Amino acid sequence: MSLRTRLILTHVFIIFLTLAILAVSLAIILRDYQRQVQLSRLGDAVVPLAFQARAMFLNDVPPREALTRLQQQAGNIGSVIIVTDKGLVLADAAYGLTNRTITLTPIVRTEAPRGFFWGTHTLRPGRVVLYAAIAAGQIGGQNVYVALANVERPFFETLDEIGWSLVVAGGITLLVSLLVALVLARSIARPITRLTQATEAIARGQYDHRVAARGRDEIGRLATSFNTMAAQVQSARQMEKDFVANVSHELKTPLTSIQGFAQAILDGTAQDLDSARRAAHTIFEEAARMARLAGDLLTLARFESGQLPMARDPVDLNELLPRWVERCRARANATGETLTTVLDPLPEIIGDAGRLEQVVTNLVDNALKYNRPGGAVTVTAKSSARLSATKSSILAWRRVVDPPPPQWITISVADTGEGIPPEDLPRLFERFYRGDKARVSFDSRSGGGTGLGLAIAKEIVTAHGGAITVESELGRGSTFTVRLPARA
Ligand code: ADP
Repeated sequence: MSLRTRLILTHVFIIFLTLAILAVSLAIILRDYQRQVQLSRLGDAVVPLAFQARAMFLNDVPPREALTRLQQQAGNIGSVIIVTDKGLVLADAAYGLTNRTITLTPIVRTEAPRGFFWGTHTLRPGRVVLYAAIAAGQIGGQNVYVALANVERPFFETLDEIGWSLVVAGGITLLVSLLVALVLARSIARPITRLTQATEAIARGQYDHRVAARGRDEIGRLATSFNTMAAQVQSARQMEKDFVANVSHELKTPLTSIQGFAQAILDGTAQDLDSARRAAHTIFEEAARMARLAGDLLTLARFESGQLPMARDPVDLNELLPRWVERCRARANATGETLTTVLDPLPEIIGDAGRLEQVVTNLVDNALKYNRPGGAVTVTAKSSARLSATKSSILAWRRVVDPPPPQWITISVADTGEGIPPEDLPRLFERFYRGDKARVSFDSRSGGGTGLGLAIAKEIVTAHGGAITVESELGRGSTFTVRLPARA
């Protein structure tokens, strides 16, 4: 059953139930009202009869005769009953109640005069006598009441009378509520149907499909989160596509080169030893580049699957950092660049020295690679100062109470190169992202990058609980900064 049908049926059921409860309550209220009206009519008429009866009982008129006279007086308003205060009927003309006992209940309604009694007596099912009584003196030392009685209209007779009106009113209400339910169900079901269609579209591969998100209600919020999810799926799919395209492209270039040079050796184009050696050298370089690419891809894939073992050893950067930078010295000398290291005393950190070396050498390598000839590369390392315990006794006391704030180590690698265009900055740490200059420089330089270095660096730094950022000014150079938490 569709959601819409279920909503309509629920509405109709609730309206039907409400109508039924309303009808029953109305019938009961009506019956009570009718009884009140009938009782007050009988009550009004019984007062003069009681006066007359009192006079007759004082003159010792027997109950039977008194009854006949009183009935004449009452006319057709009701039948007269003479009853003792214990409820024993002394005389009754119409209902054959003589010598039987009936109940007398005081009327307690505030607006009714005191001294009135009422009661009902069931003659047979569906035939109930309703009476109002009032004290009328004594007969033979016994308190007696004069009651005026009438047959009460049966409940179902009343219901029968108003039944049709109720059915008509109920029918109209049901019809109107059905229309409202239809509109409401449509307005609730339609956005859900749209969302379902959108989900199916995404499943079919239409990742750009979105739904109109209106309002801040549950459905509006669902539509917004659906759109966010769809955007994420779309971007993940795009990244996947880009990744495959990039890997194929990065593999194709060196492979074409290898194939070409190998062909030259085979068909004798590279005849002399020198040409053959040059061809073999290029083949070697390209194969090395492919191996680097495969290695980088493997590292990233392991990061993604959480399979890359990351040591958690104490690392003393005071000793290691200068050593890592020195490894790049030869390259700096070759390009005539100056490589300077400015180190503050650094606290120990916990991490993987081998992986951290990879980050630092990658940053220094890039700085040298994208620098201008004869430029400068500066590696600076600092640690954020912890609160000094000697500053004041209050601070010292607070240090004991609060855990000390985390201490950070900042390593920055600054160059004096061309700088990075602002539009490239947000994408620099994406896989395979390479600036225009880098793409051009790759083919002309042996040992060109893969565009994965910064992506790997970011993964390593993040795994150490740190962050990597970049600032750059066109024409003045770039600074890459790594922040790592010191050992607590
Ligand atoms: P690559 O192997 O191309 O160097 P990376 O991931 O290390 O790959 O760097 C990505 C891109 O970031 C580079 O292609 C280059 O465009 C840019 N880049 C990185 N470092 C620098 C730098 N110091 N100066 C200018 N551009 C840089």
